[in-house]
Amino acid sequence: MKYKSILLFRAPGSGKGTQGQIIGSIPGFFHSATGDIFRTLDLRSEMGRTFWEYASRGQLVPDELTIKLWKQYITGLEWINHFHPETEFLVLDGIPRNVAQARLLEENLDVVKFIYLRCTDLNKMVERLRRRALKENRFDDANETTIRKRMEVYERDTRPVLDYYPADRIVQVDAMHSQIRVTSEILKQLVPLKEALDEQQEDLLEGPPHPDMVPVGSIARDP
Ligand code: ADP
Repeated sequence: MKYKSILLFRAPGSGKGTQGQIIGSIPGFFHSATGDIFRTLDLRSEMGRTFWEYASRGQLVPDELTIKLWKQYITGLEWINHFHPETEFLVLDGIPRNVAQARLLEENLDVVKFIYLRCTDLNKMVERLRRRALKENRFDDANETTIRKRMEVYERDTRPVLDYYPADRIVQVDAMHSQIRVTSEILKQLVPLKEALDEQQEDLLEGPPHPDMVPVGSIARDP
């Protein structure tokens, strides 16, 4: 089964993490940020060390490893009943980060909307990252060289992901607006999708009984 997914897309520092959390708090939307998954790793583990090695230099963690970890994580959430793919949209934040990852995820994702948070003011983004580094103790945003490197990686590797998905699923939202306006613009896109999913669910519930279902009255009693 492919996950019905909404991709939040933009350079580091454009506020997509915050928007993801807000959208993820609405019933029917499940937010997952790859950076957060990585940050839960124990830095003494092999995977944790690999993450630190790459992230502290502003580089992407190798694709195969990233996708493997991501798949394990999402499947785990399904198993423990935290994420319900039949009734929820998966709001992805920070993945796919390049075209190779988009290809590797092809069999798992049904990308229904691609929300491109456009941010034109580079200085504002760098400033946001610096403030966040102080607030959240983020080692990867602590110095300007790493921040610039992350911007460079975004331009070179991540931006091409925009051309990978069909243009009719992509919507641009100006991330320079206030937080609440950005949320409202995103919601304008998501409300019709959620309503369509709700209708689908209602139809399923009201549909004809499954052929394998036996009416209770006809169950034979033990002789
Ligand atoms: P931001 O929110 O600032 O864009 P993230 O929290 O998404 O940053 O990512 C932090 C770091 O985690 C990245 O610089 C990278 O090293 C690693 N990372 C996150 N997502 C991915 C991914 N999809 N592929 C490879 N590395 C990733």
